[in-house]
Amino acid sequence: TELSNLILDRIRDVPDYPKPGVLFKDITPLLADPVAFAAVTDELAGMYEVDKIVGIEARGFILAAPAALRAGAGFVPVRKKGKLPSETLEESYDLEYGSAVIEVHRDAFVPGERVLIVDDVLATGGTARAAVELVRRAGADVVALAVLMELAFLKGRERLTDVEVRSLVVV
Ligand code: 5GP
Repeated sequence: TELSNLILDRIRDVPDYPKPGVLFKDITPLLADPVAFAAVTDELAGMYEVDKIVGIEARGFILAAPAALRAGAGFVPVRKKGKLPSETLEESYDLEYGSAVIEVHRDAFVPGERVLIVDDVLATGGTARAAVELVRRAGADVVALAVLMELAFLKGRERLTDVEVRSLVVV
């Protein structure tokens, strides 16, 4: 489609970042193009009727916040451990080496609120899986997870069979 071509044209492949052998998808050229950024924002905002849009730190924030504004929804940050000031719920997940913890404020949602979770890239799915658990534990109804780009060869979707996953582009 027109939108997926617009996105694909503006994502830069960076070899060996953050470490040798990884081909990193850099979204900064897309963010720097106001037409592409607006098109992505509009697409995310129009996907579902939701009360809140959750952004996953840090690139998820950049996409989720304007989408929330456009959708007339609230914005909620899911952050790395230690960054949120008030009482939190936390969820840990495995990384290739070690583990990571993300958090959300305990009172971020009214019970049953409809929520869309947004991130830039779905890779192995570990981050998204943890975010879904966290948002559900905080009492919200996860309507879907939306990402700009899904790296299909990493099979992240297989870890997210209980949630609707929407990718603007799949590579
Ligand atoms: P996962 O947990 O699915 O393996 O990795 C997804 C998380 O790592 C997302 O929060 C995403 O921002 C980041 N990530 C992993 N690979 C890439 C990549 O190639 N490009 C970008 N922009 N982010 C990535």
